[in-house]
Amino acid sequence: MPLRKLSVKEIDARGRRVFLRVDFNVPLRDGRVADDTRIRASLPTLRNILDGGGRVLLASHLGRPKGRVVPELSLRPVALRLSELLGRPVRLAPDCVGAPTEALARGLADGQALLLENLRFHAEEEANDAAFSERLGALAELYVNDAFGSAHRAHASVVGIVRHLPRAAAGLLMERELDMLGRLREDPARPYVAILGGAKVSDKIDLLHNMIGKVDALLVGGAMAYTFMRARGMPVGGSRVEEDRIEPAVQILKAAMNGGVRLHLPIDHVVARSAETGEGRHVTPGPDIEPDCVGLDIGPRTREAFTEEIAAARTIFWNGPLGRFEVEPYAEGTAAVARAVAASKAFSVIGGGDSAAAVNRLGLSSSFTHISTGGGASLEFLAGRDLPGVAALSDADSSTATILDPDDGPGAGPGGRR
Ligand code: ADP
Ligand code: MG
Repeated sequence: MPLRKLSVKEIDARGRRVFLRVDFNVPLRDGRVADDTRIRASLPTLRNILDGGGRVLLASHLGRPKGRVVPELSLRPVALRLSELLGRPVRLAPDCVGAPTEALARGLADGQALLLENLRFHAEEEANDAAFSERLGALAELYVNDAFGSAHRAHASVVGIVRHLPRAAAGLLMERELDMLGRLREDPARPYVAILGGAKVSDKIDLLHNMIGKVDALLVGGAMAYTFMRARGMPVGGSRVEEDRIEPAVQILKAAMNGGVRLHLPIDHVVARSAETGEGRHVTPGPDIEPDCVGLDIGPRTREAFTEEIAAARTIFWNGPLGRFEVEPYAEGTAAVARAVAASKAFSVIGGGDSAAAVNRLGLSSSFTHISTGGGASLEFLAGRDLPGVAALSDADSSTATILDPDDGPGAGPGGRR
C-alpha cells in the first residue's frame, strides 16, 4: 500500500509564503494565451491557499528556453490571463530568484499571489542544481506541487527545492491524478481493458510491458500496431515499422499469451497508397496490408471487435489515437473507440495529449471518469515507476509522526527506530 501524500487541504498556510509549482506551460499566440485550460485547472488549489490566508508564489516553466532569457517565453501573458480568471491582479516578478523577486515575495500580504518568471530561464532548473534549489526555497515557507505533468522530471522546482522547506504537499490536481491513476495501478475492477495506439511503440514499451501484467485485454491500434503485426509475421505493406522494436514486441506478445491476456491486433485496416494524397484509399478485406499500401486507421470490423471488449469492461485505460485521426478519412477508428468508452459505465481514464485532444474535439470529455493532464508523467506512473516529484512530497502522516516521535518521548519503547 503506498503512503498517502500530504494534501494542500491539510496545511495551514495562513500568513505564510507558499511556493506553488504549477503547470502554466500553455500555448501562446500573438503574445496572448491561446488556450487557458491549464491555468483554469490550477485555480482550485490556488484559491484554496489564498482563501486560507496564504501568500502564494506561483512557479512554472514555459516552453524550452534552454537556460536563457527568451522574451517570447515570458510568463507575462499568463499573469494577465490569471488576473482575469482570478478577478484580482497577479503581479509578474522580474525573475524566479534574486533580490528584487525576494523583496516582492516578502511584500506579499495574506491572500495575495505573485507569479515568478519562467523557471527554465535558468539552466539550473532542469539540472536540479542544489544552490538554485536553495534560492527557490528561500522565497517561501511551505511547498505545494500541483504540476503532475512535471512530476516525472527531477528538476529543481520539483525535487531539489523540497529539502529547503519543512513540508511539501500535493495540490488538488496532483491529488486527483494520483488517486485516479493509482486506482489503475492498484486494484482495478475487472475486466480491465487497455487501449493503446499512437505513433510509436518505442515511446510506450515500458508501459506495454507493465500493462500486460495488469489487464485482461489489450487492444492495440494506431501506427504501433504495424510493428506488432510484423512481430507476428503478418504483411504490413509500406506501413511504418520500428525494426528495432520487433523483438520487444515479440516478447510482449509472448507475455500476453502466457498471462492469458487477450491481445487484439487490428483485423482490418483503412489503407491508402499514399498517406499524403489518400490515393487508392480502401478498407482491407482482412488483417493483411497489401505491398503498395500504408495503414492509416483501424477498419470497421476492428472497430466492432474493440467496441465489444470495451462494452464488457469495468475499468478502461486509453492512450494513443487508433489512426491518423487529424485527417478526416482516418478519424473513424478513434471516434468509434471514444464513443464506446463514453457509452460505458466503466471507470475510464485517458492519458496522452493527442488522445485527450481527440476526445475533446468529439465533445465527449465529460463522459470519461478522468482525463489525465499528465502525458509522459501518467505513462511513467502506469509503467510502475515512482515519479521523483511525487516521491519528494511529504507523507500524509509525517506531521503527526514528528509530534509523536517515539524516540523523543519518555515512553520510547522497543518499537522506536534507531
Ligand atoms: P498521445 O499524445 O495520445 O500519447 P501519440 O503522441 O503517441 O498519442 O500519437 C499520436 C499520433 O499518432 C497522432 O499524430 C496520429 O496521427 C498518429 N497516428 C496514429 N495512428 C497512425 C497511423 N496508423 N498512421 C500514422 N499516424 C498515426
Ligand atoms: Mg502525443
